[in-house]
Amino acid sequence: MSWGPDTIGLRGGWERTPEQEHSEAIFPTSSFSFRSAAEAAARFSGEEAGNIYSRFTNPTVRAFENRLAAMEGGERAIGMASGMAAILAMCMGLLRAGDHVICSLGVFGTTASLFANHLSRFGVTTDFVSPTDVDAWAAAVRPETRLLFLETPSNPLTEVADIRALADIAHANNALLAVDNCFCTPALQRPLEWGADLVTHSATKYLDGQGRCVGGAVVGDAETLDKAIFPFLRTAGPSMSPFNAWVFLKGLETLNLRMRAHSEQAAALAAWLQDHPAVDRVHYSGLPDHRQHALAARQQTAFGGIVSFEVPGGREAAWQVIDATRMLSITANLGDVRSTITHPASTTHGRLSPEQRDAMAIREGLVRISVGLEDLGDIQADLDRGLGGLRPAR
Ligand SMILES: *Cc1c(COP(=O)(O)O)cnc(C)c1O
Repeated sequence: MSWGPDTIGLRGGWERTPEQEHSEAIFPTSSFSFRSAAEAAARFSGEEAGNIYSRFTNPTVRAFENRLAAMEGGERAIGMASGMAAILAMCMGLLRAGDHVICSLGVFGTTASLFANHLSRFGVTTDFVSPTDVDAWAAAVRPETRLLFLETPSNPLTEVADIRALADIAHANNALLAVDNCFCTPALQRPLEWGADLVTHSATKYLDGQGRCVGGAVVGDAETLDKAIFPFLRTAGPSMSPFNAWVFLKGLETLNLRMRAHSEQAAALAAWLQDHPAVDRVHYSGLPDHRQHALAARQQTAFGGIVSFEVPGGREAAWQVIDATRMLSITANLGDVRSTITHPASTTHGRLSPEQRDAMAIREGLVRISVGLEDLGDIQADLDRGLGGLRPAR
């Protein structure tokens, strides 16, 4: 398709039905009827393409899949019930007992738990390595390594992984690289263009963008998705509902616009926090002194909407900042047009041991903000109420 990214977000992957509707229709139907027994047989055998049953074929879900695939520059996408269902379906489609996975440290906590506590029971082992230490990835490869999995930028410390370098390691070793593109979305980063084989999404976050529905997706080449991942969806049924798919379609229409606005707001807030006397350290890949700033500038078109910062005084001080807010939503969710604030050490990363948190540099004084689109001055005032009561960091 020769359309630009904004046009694809608005019009990609969809054709009107004969009703000539101007906005995508929702098809809330569990099954589809056939004109004849022969047509039913041809659909079931795969001889003829078409709808069968909404566990694995639904036109609204397909419209979402086609648009997201076009935005990521992938051949095909498969919508799933949640971001975790997408990661699970990818693993179930690609891996078997005896296989080995390398996963970046600092992935979403539930993802780490899926690999460490659940897939491990089925004979899939996982090693966790730093997203920024390319040599550590190469050193962790074994003959049975099948999958490299990472998030970039990472949550909540915004470390940036070199997708091209890790894709090269995967491909030199007959493995695949999958990137969870939750933080950037295709609006800011298209991992397939940097050599990744697959992209996963929690559509719950920025793709929806207004905190309404839970969903997910896997994006990649048609062969891998049709042959390895679709059969798992069809058989096991972690399916996206048509209503949710429609909400995500609406979200995709404004994704490019929102991600530019989130990035602009976050950059301004990060600079303000960096100058604040009560703040020790700010994590945002858009800051020139961020360790992977140059890589982020090359790999992404903007730096995204997640900023985290550290205050001296540990948990007590961090909670004080959070509890002093009156506008920001205290919630672990992210990617919403409304700003959210959270204390990773006691929420998203609370089930890890203190040693694990230490290894990941998730300190007690760390606060994460998913910067929304309220007036910047209102966000600053809300944070300043708590920060103003803290002792200066320097
Ligand atoms: C939320 C999230 C997930 C899981 O998605 P759900 O839709 O909550 O299942 C996976 N990866 C990242 C980076 C996330 O933020």
